[in-house]
Amino acid sequence: MKISWKTILLWSIPALVIGFFVWQGAFAPNPTDLGRNAANTRMTYGRFLEYLDTNRVRSVDLYDGGRTAIVEATDPELDNRTQRWRVDLPFNSPELISKLTTADISLESHPPRNESAIWGFLGNLVFPVLLIAGLFFLFRRSSNLPGGPGQAMNFGKSKARFQMEAKTGIKFEDVAGIEEAKEELQEVVTFLKQPERFTAVGARIPKGVLLVGPPGTGKTLLAKAIAGEAGVPFFSISGSEFVEMFVGVGASRVRDLFRKAKENAPCLIFIDEIDAVGRQRGAGIGGGNDEREQTLNQLLTEMDGFEGNTGIIIIAATNRPDVLDSALLRPGRFDRQVMVDAPDLKGRLEILEVHARNKKLAPEISLEAIARRSPGFTGADLANLLNEAAILTARRRKEAITMLEINDAVDRVVAGMEGTPLVDSKSKRLIAYHEIGHAIVGTLIKEHDPVQKVTLIPRGQARGLTWFTPSEDQGLVSRAQLLARIQGALGGRAAEEIVFGDAEVTTGAGGDLQQVTALSRQMVTRFGMSDLGPLSLEGQQGEVFLGRDWTTRSEYSEEIAARIDAQVRTIVEHCYNEARRIIRENRTVIDRLVDLLIEKETIDGEEFRQIVAEYAEVPEKEQYVPTL
Ligand code: ADP
Ligand code: MG
Ligand code: ZN
Repeated sequence: MKISWKTILLWSIPALVIGFFVWQGAFAPNPTDLGRNAANTRMTYGRFLEYLDTNRVRSVDLYDGGRTAIVEATDPELDNRTQRWRVDLPFNSPELISKLTTADISLESHPPRNESAIWGFLGNLVFPVLLIAGLFFLFRRSSNLPGGPGQAMNFGKSKARFQMEAKTGIKFEDVAGIEEAKEELQEVVTFLKQPERFTAVGARIPKGVLLVGPPGTGKTLLAKAIAGEAGVPFFSISGSEFVEMFVGVGASRVRDLFRKAKENAPCLIFIDEIDAVGRQRGAGIGGGNDEREQTLNQLLTEMDGFEGNTGIIIIAATNRPDVLDSALLRPGRFDRQVMVDAPDLKGRLEILEVHARNKKLAPEISLEAIARRSPGFTGADLANLLNEAAILTARRRKEAITMLEINDAVDRVVAGMEGTPLVDSKSKRLIAYHEIGHAIVGTLIKEHDPVQKVTLIPRGQARGLTWFTPSEDQGLVSRAQLLARIQGALGGRAAEEIVFGDAEVTTGAGGDLQQVTALSRQMVTRFGMSDLGPLSLEGQQGEVFLGRDWTTRSEYSEEIAARIDAQVRTIVEHCYNEARRIIRENRTVIDRLVDLLIEKETIDGEEFRQIVAEYAEVPEKEQYVPTL
């Protein structure tokens, strides 16, 4: 948005300049335009002299510094009626002037019209003015970009960057699947609605609530619902909007926000992404950021500054509570923390029910089946899923959403847009072997999630896909499950290698190998699942820029580092051998499945298992396998 403004302004300058010239050409008065005296007929100079000599000329009006004349004379060809002509006079003809003055005719000289001078002057002025105005806008605009060159121009001023909604129109019934959080926050609604109930018994009303949870779980929605239930205005700002290049801008924004909120109390202030301002002070690369610290200090001051009973409640949201400055979490500030987690099966069902309210569903649709098919989906994913399904339904000109659209929408939400199927070729065969490799290893290892379907229809980046039904409980994962995942991920490459030979393996396994490496490394360094013993050797990656210190990165010696690498290699080697063994031992059924896959493009999990069961023993898996 900001960038595009800048571009518009940049382009508007040349446009204005060109426009100006066109306009000047079109509208500025022509210097030979002689006003209302203008005569349309022209007369040659010689004719004019002749008329002058024969005393036909009545009057002469000189224009344009004596170069043009409007001559009034009697026309012998028109019964001596008086006519007007326009005559171009030769440049310097003093004799003519003397001749005119001696003759008995009315002679008038009109000075050049001032307008043209004014226009000329304005014309000279307009261009610089436009240029300066353009530059000025440019600077003002770019000053909104962090670090923009015009920052100094509005230094100290703060633009209101927060939004206010008098009525959010969202109620608790619109938020589903996060019952605990809703219960906790029910109380906040009462604080806003009937503070007397608490103050009467001497209770201090909390000022701040911190919502903690991954993106898309409904934190913003929940905050809006609180304001909606309590019927108070909703002020919202994102933490990243506080932080500017110049020291003091963010702080003055905080002041503005609280001033406005106090005028509108009771109300609710919502600060999204509070980790952008609220990070540990004095941390991060370069020892910290003055501006952010000032903004944070201002926020803390404001929170301390108003009495608990003014009717302002601040709700902040973050998915990184661990990087927050401890001063923010002290009593009297964000002393209440509410977890907003990704929903479980029941929660997903409830969220689907909320979003299905305004959609037309075919009667055979089971929201429960959809909920089962979508472990790990957040509220935002589910809302998106139903919306995609509705769009597909409209595109297919159907009356109501059917299970077909839901299935396509799930695939699309998870793996991206569907591409066109490959034509039969060697590479299609190779991809088929790769996918069947994943699927068969996944099917024959007990701890692996069951296959849901295998397909050769490309989607997103992938040219073929094997879908597994993830288990409901994704919280705890056992060592055997991790090894199974690594083996399953290596199944694709193993099949390529065994069927086509070492020289023919492809880059298609790149994504699988990344996953394999990350998983096995975490087994060694974070989960203590190797011969190195139960040690946590690495924190979560990627914290350097999120605050905290980065100097204490490696918590182990060079020697340990070498041993970690060796352990990771051992795990991967073991898993790869295991995957290759499964491929080799099941070559007959793999060949049959590949032919079937190339013919049908998609094989679903149930059919896949039945075919494999004719050749090998398929372990029972406890996961519910939805039949959609
Ligand atoms: P967050 O702020 O946690 O990133 P949002 O509140 O912005 O997530 O959620 C985005 C959208 O997803 C919402 O507008 C809503 O349509 C949907 N959504 C998310 N969580 C829920 C939920 N628990 N119940 C109903 N809808 C939800
Ligand atoms: Mg949000
Ligand atoms: Zn693969």
